[in-house]
Amino acid sequence: MDHATPLEQALHAARALVLADLVAGEVAEADVVSLVEDSVTHRRWWVEQWPEGVDYLAGLVAQDVQDALLEKYGRWPLCPVCSQGDPHALDVEPELGPDPHWVCAKTVVKVAPVGGLAAVFGAGGGR
Ligand SMILES: [Zn+2]
Repeated sequence: MDHATPLEQALHAARALVLADLVAGEVAEADVVSLVEDSVTHRRWWVEQWPEGVDYLAGLVAQDVQDALLEKYGRWPLCPVCSQGDPHALDVEPELGPDPHWVCAKTVVKVAPVGGLAAVFGAGGGR
């Protein structure tokens, strides 16, 4: 029973990347994980309408989860570059494109690829 299509593989990869970032930010609680599942369900429908968008799934799921978290929990992921001033969330760039990254819009710094936040938040430990 293993017949994963490229589309399912891409959805699976997007889910894994965003979950990794949620774990890195220590917000991967059960109800947050369900936000990821909601997004993956929605994006499965979306990419079936528009198969060319398959490379954009990771960035889109990341943004879906970011939006959902903003309503429930607040900004995520917080920018690790700007240590002063009001905390702000990182943006996904490109919003609709392959190879998405978390970017600090204030300093125009590429912080990490989507799925790579553990390397940023994991390093250095407590504050
Ligand atoms: Zn910043």
